[in-house]
Amino acid sequence: MTDTQTASPVARHQIGRMRFDTRRRTLTVTSVAHLTPKMLRVTLTSPELADFDSRGADDHIKLFFPGPDGQALMRDYTPRAVSRADRTLTLDFALHDAGPATAWALGAKVGDTLEIGGPRGSMIVPDDFDWYLLIADETGLPAIGRRLEELRAGVPVITVVAIDSDAERQTIETKAHWTAHWVTRDRQGTDDAATLRRAIEGIQLPPGDGYVWIAAEATVAKALRAFILEDLKHPAAWMRAAGYWLRGEAGAHENL
Ligand SMILES: Cc1cc2nc3c(=O)[nH]c(=O)nc-3n(C[C@H](O)[C@H](O)[C@H](O)COP(=O)(O)OP(=O)(O)OC[C@H]3O[C@@H](n4cnc5c(N)ncnc54)[C@H](O)[C@@H]3O)c2cc1C
Repeated sequence: MTDTQTASPVARHQIGRMRFDTRRRTLTVTSVAHLTPKMLRVTLTSPELADFDSRGADDHIKLFFPGPDGQALMRDYTPRAVSRADRTLTLDFALHDAGPATAWALGAKVGDTLEIGGPRGSMIVPDDFDWYLLIADETGLPAIGRRLEELRAGVPVITVVAIDSDAERQTIETKAHWTAHWVTRDRQGTDDAATLRRAIEGIQLPPGDGYVWIAAEATVAKALRAFILEDLKHPAAWMRAAGYWLRGEAGAHENL
């Protein structure tokens, strides 16, 4: 056995954090296009992106929107793609019924401006796990897409994503060995915690050390986190779970 194999789970595959100075930037919309009926991709540009730093697939930035009382409303979004050279940032908006971020995206036109802040930091997950299991609803799909694009060639990556219907499936370019499980609410029901769990139970996970990532509505993420830790006995050090929104509450974010 090598040293790596005998080390404790906490010591192997160290997940690190990087901090950045935050600053606000004003970006201009260069394109708006539907990836799928309910996922809107907005590309933005600004000379201020020349030093934009985002090193982690699940980084987030704050988007600022004018609120009714003059105070800015903030919402968290994933930098889906960044090019410092081209000074561009891509954001994917999972469209839902209401909210300032969704309303802004739906009305966005080329030439509109958007103020952003951050990212404040990045979580660096090493690309040395034997496999990755990425679980999410639509709001976590941008981070999953980014991770799929960044991971090394041939590494097994299993994604389990809840979407409204088959029309929401995405095609993502990856060198990894990607197995996609799409859980559709139109066929499998609207209880994401139950259907995602059932889908995970049906998966034979690869051998070796795995990294598990969960991002979904907060109660769903919490239930799945408990299932992965308690039922699958996955080491907590090799898992990250976050509530990306909370049903009935605006602008919620919960790291679990
Ligand atoms: C770290 C992080 C990264 C994120 N990255 C992305 C991303 O890249 N793309 C993305 O689309 N979202 C992402 N989200 C989720 C997004 O921030 C929330 O969905 C946010 O609430 C949307 O803001 P809003 O102004 O549209 O709605 P809000 O004003 O916040 O909420 C209005 C109402 O809509 C409900 N609601 C919020 N989101 C959803 C939803 N997805 N489906 C159904 N109902 C909802 C709320 O419970 C509330 O009742 C991320 C969240 C976090 C914490």
